[in-house]
Amino acid sequence: MNIFEPQLFRRQFPLIVSHDKFLTESDRTISPLIYFDNAATTQKPKQVIDVQQHYYNNFNANVHRASHQLSSKATFAFEKARSLVQEFIGAKSVKEIIWTKGATESINIVAQSLGRNTLKPEDEIVLCASEHHANIVPWQIVAEQTGAVIKVLPLTSHGYIDIDEIDKIITDKTKFVACAHISNVLGRINPIKQLIAKAKSVGAISLIDGAQAVAHLSIDVQLLACDFYVFSAHKMYGPTGVGVLYGKKELLENMQPYQGGGEMIKKVSFNQATTFNSLPFKFEAGTPNIAGIIAFAECIDFLIPFLTDVKNSYSLYEQKLINYCYQALDKIEQVKFIVGGTPDVGVIAFTITGHHNHDIAMSLDTFGIAIRSGHHCAMPLMAYLNLTGCLRVSLAAYNSLEEIDYFIASLKNILLEGALEQISKHEEEEVLSSLATNEIENIITLFSNTKSWDSRHREIMLLGKTLPRLHKALRSDTTLISGCESLAWLKLEYSEQGLYMFTADSDAKIIRGLLVIVLAAYNKKTAIQIHEFNINAYFSHLGLMQHLSPSRGNGLLAIVDKIKLLTKNSD
Ligand code: PLP
Repeated sequence: MNIFEPQLFRRQFPLIVSHDKFLTESDRTISPLIYFDNAATTQKPKQVIDVQQHYYNNFNANVHRASHQLSSKATFAFEKARSLVQEFIGAKSVKEIIWTKGATESINIVAQSLGRNTLKPEDEIVLCASEHHANIVPWQIVAEQTGAVIKVLPLTSHGYIDIDEIDKIITDKTKFVACAHISNVLGRINPIKQLIAKAKSVGAISLIDGAQAVAHLSIDVQLLACDFYVFSAHKMYGPTGVGVLYGKKELLENMQPYQGGGEMIKKVSFNQATTFNSLPFKFEAGTPNIAGIIAFAECIDFLIPFLTDVKNSYSLYEQKLINYCYQALDKIEQVKFIVGGTPDVGVIAFTITGHHNHDIAMSLDTFGIAIRSGHHCAMPLMAYLNLTGCLRVSLAAYNSLEEIDYFIASLKNILLEGALEQISKHEEEEVLSSLATNEIENIITLFSNTKSWDSRHREIMLLGKTLPRLHKALRSDTTLISGCESLAWLKLEYSEQGLYMFTADSDAKIIRGLLVIVLAAYNKKTAIQIHEFNINAYFSHLGLMQHLSPSRGNGLLAIVDKIKLLTKNSD
């Protein structure tokens, strides 16, 4: 498939089309899936999945290391993939293409292999206010190690780097300028050519984080004239665990390896200093993601015709989706975009007046619509815009106008009919009276009748309504649960009988429901009982584990951790 045609393109993605009958044939026996979380990761075309499987079935072997045919075959495909990447981004040499496990690792390599060895106290690293944490934290670490200082470029009201400010911020003190080509929250194509030129004019190294650009733009690193360009395969329809660090050969040659191990050495001895392999292997310690890299080559073959099409059909279609979605959202009164104007790529961020982002995202999930809510790994951007988080719809070229219609209709349904509030007094009283006696058993009974996430979500929202609000004065920094993406507060009391009583609250309705479930397990218990209780088994029994990310999102783990911390060592 070399010519972009929306329907044909969509058909390449098995996970996407497996839900198609829901929309196209109104077949309600099929569960809906409207996947609008493409900035987090994209779905994979069948040919990429097939190539990965074919490698394991037919020529799985380690690369570069063996003198047998199987390894030669694997090595050939592996190195061919490197050449394809070179061509894909217009690099001068294959030696400039380093395999990593993602954009994050690529940035860490530059920060540690180059930054750590060259930065001095008071040297400056310039980042932009809208960076992903992947392009902030590695620089913070190296700044801490070297005494360098981080400076931040401000944004325009439309979410672009404010180029008028670069002369003030990028100065002779600047040693690195690291900036996203496209922000994962704002979807704006930053004026990176000007930024790179400015960095060069003061002798600073430029690094461009292309994680959100590679699926949408044709990249030419020589035209951009940047020193480093990084990206991940999984955001451009390729496999997870594969990334690229492009760097100018002269720079890479003078950099120290980031990690040591097999393949990155020339000679290892206990008596003499170890010497390192030539480029690009010097930075590739250990066995790489061979299957992923070979499948990535297939992905590049798949994508190149669309990105380089003179008729621009691929990007015109993406633009059509963006405009359609943006305009439809704009017509909803409660929708507030976090910056002005239509984004350049399909990343649309907004909040909904009167509703918590998590409540909206989780309600949409009951309609089969996957969008993201939270800080999107850009906490400094949220702080810059005075937000605690936002909703993000991110589109890919396999999405359709019908999906956007369904999303908008579902969102309106949630907002207009007040689905979040649609719980009758009678239902509420029923839940309240059932909880009064043995809370945990009653919760288990309530959930035993639920068959789907839809009905479980409804029960959680119902439970949330039964949680008394904490007095405003108690919703303070001392009771705040950190690590929770929505705001949640927890207060404890200790009875003379040695039992704990918790009261809690949150600004998100869904979290209030989850708090009722958690507190039912822990209230009126001793510290020993609290620590011995298997909360994971409890959640799994309620059928909630698969929906609740243990590390972030709803912050459930943070709530449990806080309770355990507060009750530690007190028995
Ligand atoms: N940079 C940007 C702009 C991103 O959007 C992301 C991921 O969301 C990253 C860097 C990190 O990518 P990865 O997690 O694949 O290393």
